[in-house]
Amino acid sequence: MSTVKIARRFASLQPSSMIRIFQAAEAVEDLSNLSIGEPDFHTEPEIVDAAAKAAREGCTHYPPLQGFQDLRKEISAYWKRHHEIDAAPENILLTVGGLQAAHFCFQAMLDPGDEVLVAEPCFSAYFQQIENNGGVVVPVPSRAENGFFPTAEDFEKAVTKKTKILVINSPCNPTGGVITREQALEIAAVAEKHDLFVISDEIYEAFIYAGKHVPFASLPGMKERTMTVGGFSKSHCMTGWRIGYAMAPAELLKVMITLSVAQTYGVNTLAQRGACFALETQDEKVEARTEEYEKRVRYCAGRLNSMPGVTCPEPKGAFYLFPDISGTGMTDEEFAWWLLDTAKVAVIPGAAFGPSGAGHIRIACTLSLEGLKKAMDRMEGALKKKMA
Ligand code: PMP
Repeated sequence: MSTVKIARRFASLQPSSMIRIFQAAEAVEDLSNLSIGEPDFHTEPEIVDAAAKAAREGCTHYPPLQGFQDLRKEISAYWKRHHEIDAAPENILLTVGGLQAAHFCFQAMLDPGDEVLVAEPCFSAYFQQIENNGGVVVPVPSRAENGFFPTAEDFEKAVTKKTKILVINSPCNPTGGVITREQALEIAAVAEKHDLFVISDEIYEAFIYAGKHVPFASLPGMKERTMTVGGFSKSHCMTGWRIGYAMAPAELLKVMITLSVAQTYGVNTLAQRGACFALETQDEKVEARTEEYEKRVRYCAGRLNSMPGVTCPEPKGAFYLFPDISGTGMTDEEFAWWLLDTAKVAVIPGAAFGPSGAGHIRIACTLSLEGLKKAMDRMEGALKKKMA
């Protein structure tokens, strides 16, 4: 008998199919890796220099719990500049990645058995965060014809007396979908009608190729009932710095800040200095990378649509594609493992992001155009052989 007695609620915790693919892919030589949801670009050297300079100047003490005031002002200015929304610095909390913003919110708001509506397919960490904090995940299915966003009706059907929070993500990981203002307004009406709080994950706001980013908190009546998740991981290629933020009503932030005292006690000071410098100086570089991602997703979507058994919708945002591969006769799980084994291309099975993802795969366009061409050539070659 082991002396390590894992809590009953975590006893059956298993790595997801995404983690299993990551692990198998690690052992493959000359891999075309389309499975990783992070920019292939390193952090810009001048951001690294700004953080290093701060370290040398003694910025090495415990951080202010809510985050540096000047950084919160820069975040506020960034959202005003890019998305015309007013988020006061007092309504911003720096967190250890966007991930921690959502975690703190679930921790602060969920009583045991409270239900959370999650538009899926989605960033699957939410499922675990909700369960770990005593909540019940209610996946709200979406359909490709709605750009993979559930309709107001889909949400309505899932509401019960226990529903407390609704989670949406646009631009979306894994689908690359971008919500329209009309779709967002309809969902906002459901939130209002049933008095639901909304977590709007907008971490990919910089990457839009069609339409315009709709900040959920900017919709009428939504600011008071929305927490926006933002960050630096994607827009500023700072995944490893582990810094992100929440923009939310002050009464929620107050509890989240108090919870942070016993967990992380704020966010790494040097990451904060780097992030502040990034917001002050990097708009043009973010724009240039957005153009590069757009070229990549358009190139890959074109290639995928000419492969047998594969259909890929027009890319709209983020750096993901979510093609339907059901025409190949394989399930998404079979397809992903077959592709890794036969063509050395790693992708994630769609069902890893929720039941509606079945029959699709997620492709992260986080290789150079050259690397993507090689991956697409490999995939096309393997598919043509299989389908011949
Ligand atoms: N939300 C979504 C939709 C994501 O895809 C990710 C990262 N893959 C995150 C949040 C978390 O990002 P961070 O690195 O800021 O924790």
